[in-house]
Amino acid sequence: MIIVLLGPPGAGKGTQCELLARERRLARVSTGELLREAAARHTALGELARPYVERGELVPDEVMIGVIREWLTENAHAERAIFDGFPRTITQAEALDGVLADLGRQVDHAVYLRVPTEELIRRLSGRYVCPRCGATYHLATSPPRVPGRCDICGASLTQRPDDRIEVIRHRLEVYLTQTMPVVDYYRRKGILIEVDGARPIETVFADIQAALPPVESN
Ligand code: ADP
Ligand code: ADP
Ligand code: ZN
Repeated sequence: MIIVLLGPPGAGKGTQCELLARERRLARVSTGELLREAAARHTALGELARPYVERGELVPDEVMIGVIREWLTENAHAERAIFDGFPRTITQAEALDGVLADLGRQVDHAVYLRVPTEELIRRLSGRYVCPRCGATYHLATSPPRVPGRCDICGASLTQRPDDRIEVIRHRLEVYLTQTMPVVDYYRRKGILIEVDGARPIETVFADIQAALPPVESN
């Protein structure tokens, strides 16, 4: 089973992806996280992606398609996987279908988290992340137990450079023009699960779980 998680920046994709991956034992790939790790390690991919990520632009399709193809090849054994942040353009969605078809596989479910813009801005401007383990927090809605410290590994929390207000606004525009059409792409295929993401984390999670096939049968 392959699930893709769609939604604007700040919709809660990373948060729900983590919960779903744990609960359903899914291999998880987050393209944003993968690019941030590559940038931190100064790999060729990281250096190529950095200027796009910092400006809130999308990294070119051919680069991202290469990343996903490589992940799928290396993780051929992963029968159940969840994608967070990919695909983000129609070109990526079509390429994903092509790569999966070559492997005799397909996207089974596309979960779309719908959240109003004002709430997205609130969420992104209060987001803090752990640079060591990738855990996500929010100043107001899910603060760490000790201010500024990761609950899981104790590292100092940071804000993402692309969570500055000017970049947030640009990412939201990029989302509307380039990624919104992907939602329709999966709707037309009849595999879209649309969820109201503007509710507490546990409520959103329960809704997604209810819409997906029961864990035993996947
Ligand atoms: P995305 O991966 O879609 O950008 P995240 O999962 O990183 O979104 O969440 C963005 C911010 O909003 C984080 O600070 C996170 O803690 C917070 N958040 C996530 N889901 C909810 C929710 N349902 N209600 C309130 N805040 C949330
Ligand atoms: P968010 O959680 O706010 O939705 P992500 O962590 O998923 O953001 O992505 C951060 C940045 O990484 C994006 O703004 C973009 O520059 C780049 N990126 C991630 N995934 C993709 C993708 N599939 N195609 C192009 N760029 C991507
Ligand atoms: Zn941590």
